[in-house]
Amino acid sequence: MRALSKSKILSYLQCPKRLWLEVKQPELIENSAATEASFKIGHQVGEIARTLYDPNGNGVLIEPHRVGFEAAFSQTENLLKSSAPIFEAAITTGDALALADVMLPMNQQGTPSWRMIEVKSSTSVKDYHKDDVAVQAHIARSSGVALERIDVACIDNQWIYPGEENYQGLLKETDLTEVAFDRTNEVEDWIKDAHKMIEKGVEPEISTGSHCNEPYPCGFYHHCTRAEPQPQFPVSWLPDIRKRKLKEFISDNGVTDLGEVPDDLLNERQRRVKKHSLSGELFFDKEGAAADLARYELPAYFLDFETINLAVPIWKGRRAYQQVPFQYSLHKLSPNTAVSHESFLDLSGKDPAEPLAEKLIAACGDNGPIFVYNIGFESARIRELAGQFPRIKRPLLAINSRLVDLLVVARERYYHPSQQGSWSIKKVLPAIAPDLHYEDLEGVQDGGSAMAVFPEAIAAETSLIRKSEIEAGLLAYCRLDTIALVRLWSFFTGTPVKID
Ligand code: SF4
Repeated sequence: MRALSKSKILSYLQCPKRLWLEVKQPELIENSAATEASFKIGHQVGEIARTLYDPNGNGVLIEPHRVGFEAAFSQTENLLKSSAPIFEAAITTGDALALADVMLPMNQQGTPSWRMIEVKSSTSVKDYHKDDVAVQAHIARSSGVALERIDVACIDNQWIYPGEENYQGLLKETDLTEVAFDRTNEVEDWIKDAHKMIEKGVEPEISTGSHCNEPYPCGFYHHCTRAEPQPQFPVSWLPDIRKRKLKEFISDNGVTDLGEVPDDLLNERQRRVKKHSLSGELFFDKEGAAADLARYELPAYFLDFETINLAVPIWKGRRAYQQVPFQYSLHKLSPNTAVSHESFLDLSGKDPAEPLAEKLIAACGDNGPIFVYNIGFESARIRELAGQFPRIKRPLLAINSRLVDLLVVARERYYHPSQQGSWSIKKVLPAIAPDLHYEDLEGVQDGGSAMAVFPEAIAAETSLIRKSEIEAGLLAYCRLDTIALVRLWSFFTGTPVKID
């Protein structure tokens, strides 16, 4: 019998079919960029944890993927007789195996015992972490480890980095010993059932649903949906499904298609999505859009930020996951409709916020609307900058007071069936400006990939060629975002604008 890893057992809990596919057809997995990014963050936090739990460097890191699992099990067994911290301790019961992030020796009244710490990159303990520690604890205790206590260490996003590589305080622990130790019978059943599942010769028949993203996005989603009949107009296109009655109607009746939802359960925007998606007809309140924007005189500015939110802060005074803007693109439309552009991008590796704020103040002039798309994001960043830098607080707040949200106009006045219920700029743009394509950009095509490449761009070990590739990709991507805003404004106001 092969030993199932903790992650396989947790996959089984999420969806038995996921486990089956992971074991039988792992080549079908297609992890999203976001999932890959979260793996990277997990590794980064894991590395910091090793320095925090072993400040003197006495600990041993087990590397089963390098030395092989059998060697890792026996290395762990030997180390458990010592009193040094162990990282990635490999433990097996024969039918299940666990790699423990951190094992710290304890000495309870002369009896050697161990504390296990599972390190997570989330900012709070989730319910699925309780399943996770229950499996870890069961495997450790069943294999004879004198486990005294088990904690989950999450990121404390209120902790402020004091600089100089001092990460004491980044992780906050929660003792889950009782929760974990109480569930050993349950875990035994999970392991047995998971083994039965992988004995099946054929792929289990389980439909996709909300479980495909809970607690983790499943990498087999494309595989599973390809095999399922897809509704022509998926009910998931309905924006903002919050009303309990609507949610219940959809789940109680197994509704998959928009056409099956009665109008009286929908709000105005949802009804519009339903009506125009089904009919394939454009909705455009041209006069309304023009009237919404008529009050804003030129010059006008079009602004977009890119930000980074590092799990492990690298700039003194920053919190974990704090959004720090490192780039902006700003188009200016003069009263004669001439367009000019300027941008800011700091890849020096220093905290980019203050120079960005100063350059933004100079670039935005003293008057004129500043159009953004989804005001909450840019506004929050500008208010944060104002809070961080009292010296330039006033001009930053003045910029904030000039922000105008083009998303509000788009939502109220425009819907093209190709938007599929979304007003993200990438969904609205193809209908309004079919000559602009994010897919044509090289390297960076969305905010997630901008965030993902930023750490690489500032890393000392990155080659100059790669750095300039990333720089070009970031500049082109952010510029396209504000070109899109200018084109949107032009379309809504009916004013032709030429952008070089
Ligand atoms: S995509 Fe959904 S149904 Fe398919 S294996 Fe994953 S969780 Fe299960």
